Amino acid sequence: MEFIKPNTLKELLEIISTITGEKYYFAGGTDINIQIKKDIIRNGKIIFINHIKELNGIKEDENYILIGSTTTFRQIIESKLLNDKLPFFQKSLNNFASPLIQSQATIGGNIANGSPTADVVPLLLVLDGKLELISNSMNRTINLKDFFTGYKKFILKPDEIIKSIFIPQNAENGFDTFYEKIGSRKALSIAKIAVAGLKKVVNNEINEIKIAVGSLNEYPRRLDLIEDYLLNKDLKDIDFKKIRIILKEEITPITDLRSDKDYRFEVCLNLIKKFLLKPDSG
Ligand SMILES: Cc1cc2nc3c(=O)[nH]c(=O)nc-3n(C[C@H](O)[C@H](O)[C@H](O)COP(=O)(O)OP(=O)(O)OC[C@H]3O[C@@H](n4cnc5c(N)ncnc54)[C@H](O)[C@@H]3O)c2cc1C
Repeated sequence: MEFIKPNTLKELLEIISTITGEKYYFAGGTDINIQIKKDIIRNGKIIFINHIKELNGIKEDENYILIGSTTTFRQIIESKLLNDKLPFFQKSLNNFASPLIQSQATIGGNIANGSPTADVVPLLLVLDGKLELISNSMNRTINLKDFFTGYKKFILKPDEIIKSIFIPQNAENGFDTFYEKIGSRKALSIAKIAVAGLKKVVNNEINEIKIAVGSLNEYPRRLDLIEDYLLNKDLKDIDFKKIRIILKEEITPITDLRSDKDYRFEVCLNLIKKFLLKPDSG
């Protein structure tokens, strides 16, 4: 195993464009350290990126809140800008891991580790988050929902990294918000099921609806079919038996050490129900 510490973003991008074999980025190291310890990662190059200033920090432009990929969850939780502009996003991450992990773990690492349980992903999905990807030869922006292609698989090219995350300025405005993560305990808990939702209800009718789930498929995703069923529906006409049938098509929960698939399915359904029946905060 070889460790590399580039001095600048330019140098980082040049180095990664020349590496053909296995490589990993060490941002906060909270996932990668465990993979090294467990011998899941044995070879390849480990490239430090958490000191590169262009990759860190939270700022805004006219249209977006921009979060650098190596921004830690502590920075997110303490950001005044996020408190003003995206308070739902910020508050939902208060229970991320523990204070120690929050000060190391980064938002880019949470996404690129590719775990179905990554806390930030369902939240970013309902907020219509985008990723800015950068390489030595190009820079492109994609919708986060198009990033994942399978379990720990994404569209990132071998010489690309996540530079930043964009969230539209008005992503939360006027929405009723919902986020619940079910784990084995309150602190330091990896999600067994997570549901994030935004809804706009006018005269009892659902005018806009976004629901995303984590830990229930190979990667967190929006529930497009359920959203289609709910759009423009009067709240009193929602048929939860129908939602149960659609949900069977949309999620494929697994049984593992933490929970079985039937439990995951029922809890997910109950959380969706709780979100839909949650009184309008406006
Ligand atoms: C005790 C403990 C508790 C935890 N609790 C939670 C929790 O509550 N919720 C949760 O979601 N996770 C949790 N985690 C998992 C982990 O902390 C998060 O996934 C974290 O956000 C990973 O970020 P990192 O910076 O440490 O990633 P790293 O370990 O540095 O990297 C992880 C992966 O992402 C890749 N990567 C990193 N940055 C980039 C980039 N900019 N571009 C492309 N690829 C990149 C690396 O190559 C690597 O494969 C926990 C972990 C531990 C050890």
